[in-house]
Amino acid sequence: MTRAYNFNAGPAAIPLEVLEQAQAQFVDYEGAGMALMEMSHRSATYEKVNQEAQDLLRELMNIPDNYKILFLQGGASTQFAMIPMNLLAEGKVGAYVDTGAWAGKALKEAKIVGEAVVAGSSKEDQYMRVPQASEIVVPDQAAYVHITSNETIGGVQYKSFPQFGNVPLIADMSSDILSRPVDVSKFGMIYAGAQKNLGPSGVTVVIVREDLIAESPKHIPAMLRYDTHAKANSLYNTPPSFSVYMVGLVLKWIKGKGGLAALEQFNLDKTKLIYDVIDESNGFYQGCANKEDRSTMNITFRIKDQNEELEKKFIKESEAAGFVGLKGHRDVGGLRASTYNAVPMESCAALAQFMKEFQQRNA
Ligand SMILES: *Cc1c(COP(=O)(O)O)cnc(C)c1O
Repeated sequence: MTRAYNFNAGPAAIPLEVLEQAQAQFVDYEGAGMALMEMSHRSATYEKVNQEAQDLLRELMNIPDNYKILFLQGGASTQFAMIPMNLLAEGKVGAYVDTGAWAGKALKEAKIVGEAVVAGSSKEDQYMRVPQASEIVVPDQAAYVHITSNETIGGVQYKSFPQFGNVPLIADMSSDILSRPVDVSKFGMIYAGAQKNLGPSGVTVVIVREDLIAESPKHIPAMLRYDTHAKANSLYNTPPSFSVYMVGLVLKWIKGKGGLAALEQFNLDKTKLIYDVIDESNGFYQGCANKEDRSTMNITFRIKDQNEELEKKFIKESEAAGFVGLKGHRDVGGLRASTYNAVPMESCAALAQFMKEFQQRNA
């Protein structure tokens, strides 16, 4: 088999070693005579899978003891609703920093549930950057400030995180969790759907400071309460056991790679190959994000004068050459290469080479 050069935005590439290990354990999990996904989630075997994944995440991200790690379902999109349901008490306001498509979706859901406002926005700059901390105005009654650490569609990423005193910072890290070290103690909550950087779809990781989830309003249904899942160690109801298992394998792979600092350097090195081609193309390729804020996970770019014909040609020829997923999101068009942790250096080197040759043929 030849592996495709997979630049999919999500679900996305998973390390080959992880897929192979899952394959080896697929039919007969550790000699049990059955697959993991056939087992009770109350079995000692699954409890170990659940606990090991948590422990490894805590170790890799250096998560303090007063934070819970939850494995939930419903994707990051369900978190958009659960956050205000649980944290926006009567009289409180959710403050949202608007950096593009995903931030906008989070805000929209919060407005359905309670009072939510835009505390800062880069809309006037076509979301080419993230707002500076000094541009963000937090209302007095703010229950939290919500940011999107990496805008998967627009391709902008926070390089450092703003702080707002006692107001907890909540980050949607769906598309850049574990791509670099972060100081978890600076956040009230971090959440991420797994299908970009953590493994397959089906599980959402929530890392949350205990005091924030101590008293959710009484009227919230059990499945949508953080305290339900925290008390039950993510085993309140049937968990997505196979997805959690896969996340555990990905975490082991990350540890084997040397942890988050090593992965950050790896991600910088591999995206540099592609950003260099863009920067040195004399304007043939144009990055959609400002250099200071551009993402190491989603490289968004256009071909000069937003030439859609040439972009179509680029996509068609890239597909013929074994590249997958280079079409920009349907809402914004253009081109996008998603270079998550599991995307190997060779894929990025091959794309850089393809881009140079495409330019030579078409400039
Ligand atoms: C993909 C993505 C989401 C949506 O995740 P689902 O798991 O599909 O709900 C939310 N936020 C960001 C930043 C994303 O990249």
